[in-house]
Amino acid sequence: MKVVIIGAGVVGLSIAVNLARRGAEVTVIERNSAGSGTSSTSYAWVNANNKEPQSYFDLNLAGMRAHAEIAGSGAWLQQTGHVELATDDAHRFELEERTARLQQMGYPAEHISASRARELVPDLLIPDDCDSIVSFASESCCYPLPFVGHLLREAALEGVTILTGLNVERLEARGHGANVILEDGTVLAANHVVSAAGRWTNQITALAGVPPVMFEFTEPGDVTVGYLTITNPLPTSLTGLVTSPRLNVRPAGGGRLMLQALDLDVSADPTCVPDTSSVIATEFIDRLRGVLQNTAEAEIVELQVGQRAMPRDGLSVIGPAESAPWLYLVATHSGITLAPLLGSGVAGEIFGDSEPLFADFRPSRLAGDKVVNVPEAPRHPGEQ
Ligand SMILES: Cc1cc2nc3c(=O)[nH]c(=O)nc-3n(C[C@H](O)[C@H](O)[C@H](O)COP(=O)(O)OP(=O)(O)OC[C@H]3O[C@@H](n4cnc5c(N)ncnc54)[C@H](O)[C@@H]3O)c2cc1C
Repeated sequence: MKVVIIGAGVVGLSIAVNLARRGAEVTVIERNSAGSGTSSTSYAWVNANNKEPQSYFDLNLAGMRAHAEIAGSGAWLQQTGHVELATDDAHRFELEERTARLQQMGYPAEHISASRARELVPDLLIPDDCDSIVSFASESCCYPLPFVGHLLREAALEGVTILTGLNVERLEARGHGANVILEDGTVLAANHVVSAAGRWTNQITALAGVPPVMFEFTEPGDVTVGYLTITNPLPTSLTGLVTSPRLNVRPAGGGRLMLQALDLDVSADPTCVPDTSSVIATEFIDRLRGVLQNTAEAEIVELQVGQRAMPRDGLSVIGPAESAPWLYLVATHSGITLAPLLGSGVAGEIFGDSEPLFADFRPSRLAGDKVVNVPEAPRHPGEQ
């Protein structure tokens, strides 16, 4: 069986490795370099914390388990846990309700005291009005580029061909399969084509005459965009994820921290990215100093506007296109959490299995003008 995969992000590479292990002849086409898409601009928090409805929670929980299984001692995944603090009434109420719901489903979620929070995060500054703190012990920090590196090594071991710097320009149905035509004129015949093109998925569906399934960026602050900032190396002892009223913070490697402040995303605009000395960068630093000690010397050294791969209902698209069954579509937010599960599950489906966890995420539910619940942009602590 010959399979062409479009896109060498974490999702495409994970599917490639699993297909090759099952004996498929796999070629991955990537127009830039491996990992250069959203996979390298991600908060990369592996969790099922605020994922609804139930089937999306189940999918993400299985994603967490699949990550842990393949990670072993792999340096790209650290089960650090996550501590969330609430101060205002609305957040406190939402956190209490979410914690109770997660506990009922057997997801590790535990109310903790301020002193326990300081044991877990020694440099944590806890506001006086904070009376609700929850620890989510099973959640992890992923380091996406080491993860991409791992997948590239596995792909090489399994004999996957990866062609980088080449755009897929045309798709032509041929019998039960298709020809994939690259910008240099190369024609690749495939029994199956997998689109793992992330936020560019609508470009691939257009090539196949299939209706679009994704949101496109339309205006600053919409659901597809969010700031991510990285500090200089700091003498703070943060090892895990902290979600606090005005800032989410995690280690970024090398003593640096990654910061996210979802309420600031209202101005996020990928066509006009502020620099590292801008007002927005200064605001991130001010907020950090209110959350962690030993951050007096903090500076923002990288400020990015990430662009989410966002299906039209904010969930995932996993399955063959209805009108072009040779084209298997995979596009999702939470792709860092889901990549290992998508790898094994999609490979299984292409070999004829059916993955029950994917049943609610078929592309047909979004096709054409079907009405969907439009997701709101994440604006509160704990969202992504
Ligand atoms: C601000 C932000 C925060 C996030 N936080 C989290 C989080 O905490 N946890 C989590 O799980 N997820 C998070 N995500 C989402 C996650 O990062 C993405 O879902 C994931 O990286 C998507 O991976 P992918 O492989 O599908 O796409 P990508 O990494 O974008 O890969 C797609 C690839 O396809 C290539 N491509 C596209 N079109 C073509 C073509 N025609 N020809 C050849 N190549 C093509 C692109 O160049 C690209 O490299 C976040 C995302 C953002 C933006």
